[in-house]
Parts: sequence; C-alpha cells; structure tokens
Amino acid sequence: MRLRNITGSREVIAENEYVVQEPKEQKGKWKSFFGNDNPVHLEIGMGKGRFLMTLAEQNPGVNYIGIEKYSSVLLRALQKMEQNPLPNIRFIRMDAEEITEVFAKGEVDKIYLNFSDPWPKDRHAKRRLPSRQFLARYDEILNPAGDLEFKTDNKDLFTFAEEEVAETKWEIRAITYDLHNDSKMCEGNVMTEYEEKFSSKGNPIYKYIIGR
Ligand code: SAM
Repeated sequence: MRLRNITGSREVIAENEYVVQEPKEQKGKWKSFFGNDNPVHLEIGMGKGRFLMTLAEQNPGVNYIGIEKYSSVLLRALQKMEQNPLPNIRFIRMDAEEITEVFAKGEVDKIYLNFSDPWPKDRHAKRRLPSRQFLARYDEILNPAGDLEFKTDNKDLFTFAEEEVAETKWEIRAITYDLHNDSKMCEGNVMTEYEEKFSSKGNPIYKYIIGR
C-alpha cells in the first residue's frame, strides 16, 4: 500500500459516519453500539476492505468491524462503501497493538487476518499480526468459542505463524497449504484484494483456522 499520504484522508475519515471516531469509548458496549445482539467479527489489517464488505453483504446477521492502520488506505474502503452502503459494518483507524483497549474480554466472536504484512526482519517479529504477542491480545478479546482465520501467500510468514501457535494455548483446527485447490476449506471463500493479486500470479494460498 503506497497511498499513505493522500491529502485530506484524515479529515475525510474524521467526518465519515462509517468510521468509529472514539473506539475506546465503546469498549464492552459494541452490541449496543450496533443496536442488536448479533455477533461481532473483526478483520485486522483490512486494507481496502473488499473482503469484509462482501461478508457484510452476505451476512446481515453479523456485525463487522474493519481495522486499518493507515488513513489513506481506509479512505479507499470508505469510497467503496459510498457505492454500496451497508448497515452492519464499521471501520476503525488504529494500530492493532491497542486492540485490548477497544474490545472487552470475550467481546469479539471471530477474527480474520488476511495477507498480513510480513515484517521480514527478525527484530520486527512481534509486529507480525499472527505473532505470539498478538495471539495473546486476541486471546483476551475473543469469545472462548470463537476462532481466528489467517490466510497469506507468504510461506515464511505462514511457517512463522504455525510455529507461534505451537508456543501458545491456541490449537490449529484446520489448515491448508493450497486453499484454492482444497475444496473443503475453500467452500465459501471470499477473496481479498491481495489474494486475487497473488493467486493470479500462481502463488498458493496458505490458511489456518485456530481456536483454544
Ligand atoms: N487484508 C487486505 C488484503 O488481504 O487485501 C490488505 C492486506 S495488506 C498487505 C496489510 C494491511 O494491514 C495494510 O493495509 C496495513 O496498513 C494493515 N496493517 C498492518 N499492520 C497493522 C496494524 N498493526 N494495525 C492495523 N492495520 C495494520
């Protein structure tokens, strides 16, 4: 994503009805924020948001929240929302490191990580969204019955992610090293922007579903 400095993106976001401006104030109150009792599903590092918007359209009985660090990227999602507004989706511009300040214990029912940034240098491992440091944060906010789905085309990142799971109380419930040729795991698969780009180059897509 090279769109980090689109002029005015912060201003647009500050006024947009689909962006939660003070997300920490909603901690523990997300169901009343949405005005219903539906489950809350998150995508962390959602990019331009196509994945989450498709799911929100398919599943009106789920509340979706997309988390993205950069205003200029989030702006692209908002532009897409204008073309097809949906009542069951909202966005937060934030660094996922602060996620436990925004969601209370067990308040989230599902988490998606899609094509997370690889942070290839060892010293940056704890910034990777499937790292054990992030798994500990997800453990706090995710309902005990909930699960986390991660997909990527980056083999090194996926290997790292599997190794991190082994160091925690999380368990792998399902795994594939070639999602698009795995009929069971690919059933109902919604492609992300990155997934379309990299699978069209012939890269296999790796995916796990974990729970605890
Ligand atoms: N999920 C999308 C997809 O699959 O097409 C976008 C993938 S893109 C490689 C990763 C996205 O995660 C970027 O938009 C980046 O800004 C966002 N991101 C990375 N680290 C983040 C963090 N700590 N908190 C929130 N967003 C983050």
